[in-house]
Amino acid sequence: MRPSAFDYLTPTSLDEAIGCLSEHAPEARLLAGGQSLIPAMNLRLARPRVLVDLSGISGLAGIEEDGGSVTIGAMTTHSEIAVSDVLQRMVPPLPAMARRIGHHAIRNRGTIGGSLAHADPASEWPCALLALGGQIKVSGPKGERAIPAEEFFRTYYTTEIEPDEILTGVVLSVFDRSRRWSFHEVARQPGAFALVLVLACASLSAGNTVADLRLAVGGCGGRPVLPVTDWSFLTGVRPSAELIETAAQRAAGALDPPGDNSASGEDRRQMALVLLRRALGEVLIEEMGASV
Ligand SMILES: Cc1cc2nc3c(=O)[nH]c(=O)nc-3n(C[C@H](O)[C@H](O)[C@H](O)COP(=O)(O)OP(=O)(O)OC[C@H]3O[C@@H](n4cnc5c(N)ncnc54)[C@H](O)[C@@H]3O)c2cc1C
Repeated sequence: MRPSAFDYLTPTSLDEAIGCLSEHAPEARLLAGGQSLIPAMNLRLARPRVLVDLSGISGLAGIEEDGGSVTIGAMTTHSEIAVSDVLQRMVPPLPAMARRIGHHAIRNRGTIGGSLAHADPASEWPCALLALGGQIKVSGPKGERAIPAEEFFRTYYTTEIEPDEILTGVVLSVFDRSRRWSFHEVARQPGAFALVLVLACASLSAGNTVADLRLAVGGCGGRPVLPVTDWSFLTGVRPSAELIETAAQRAAGALDPPGDNSASGEDRRQMALVLLRRALGEVLIEEMGASV
């Protein structure tokens, strides 16, 4: 099918792009990599009257470290993240997660900003930003604001971005060298969207007791979630297999995934439980090692 007719605008600065949105919102849509929007337009699930292409705006792509944080521009592609040496050193889960997104053609065009704005709850970046405690920067006619990932995702394909705002980038804290992480997902085939995905990050103290744990689950509802925010029953404790089972059960029990054409709610919870056990074991028990 073909998309319905639209005007195509090519701003060359952020201010110009915000002006285009302010003039044409809510009938205008931003175009980043086009890997979600163009298929939706071809199916006429989306019918924007105006497309505002972000690709001509310099400064929206790139990865920069600044002391204790890393900023990733909205137009940075999944492929650029997958091969970034800076991210491999500073925020190592990101390159590994990028390699799990779609296939090469999708990764070469699709952007982190487009993915976060699209807010598919089964996609990698929303889960990553939530687990890593990232901030999402947006700009609009009233200026710039940074939204914590916990507040950014509302529900399926819906975020805190206003119709006249543009997501400009994300800010993440640099990983401490000793921080451990584990990412796992279940997908029906390589390149397909995940059914369920889990990213866990933890720090162990001397003596391998738990200092800190943060874990996000995607694909189990309208947005990624932190199923447990109070892990104090684990802190200061040397984890055992029994404790990991308790933690995994507690996190899976906090999920309430709906069923759909791909999996029933109970199947999703079961998949989450398996991934939670695996991820928690890998981040909390030294000899199991961190993994992708
Ligand atoms: C076959 C296939 C398989 C895929 N598999 C996966 C997968 O496994 N995992 C995964 O995570 N994704 C997957 N995707 C989606 C892919 O990652 C897309 O790149 C991503 O969802 C959207 O990014 P984009 O840059 O292409 O955005 P676009 O498609 O251009 O835009 C998506 C939406 O975001 C808005 N938008 C874009 N940029 C901005 C911005 N800077 N500020 C505000 N709004 C903005 C647009 O207006 C639009 O509404 C897949 C896509 C396809 C077609």
